[in-house]
Amino acid sequence: MRTNEQVNYTTHRPERHQMDATTDEPRRIKHNRAKCLVCGDTIESKSRHDYVTCTCGNISVDGGRAYLARMATDLQKFEELSEYES
Ligand SMILES: [Zn+2]
Repeated sequence: MRTNEQVNYTTHRPERHQMDATTDEPRRIKHNRAKCLVCGDTIESKSRHDYVTCTCGNISVDGGRAYLARMATDLQKFEELSEYES
């Protein structure tokens, strides 16, 4: 049974951000960031082990320029803002 102390985090790694569909090569991440639609924070992970959480705790980003990892209590309330090298 869930209690209020337990946070049900979901790990989110969108497939389309992992690989470039045309080359099958991993795309180079320029900015690994996302916006929390609950508190309005835009957070960015700047290195592989830079785990950043927004002010209200709804979302976290991790992975820096190595990979995209998103954790959220409510995935409907985050906006993907990552950018890639072209
Ligand atoms: Zn937030």
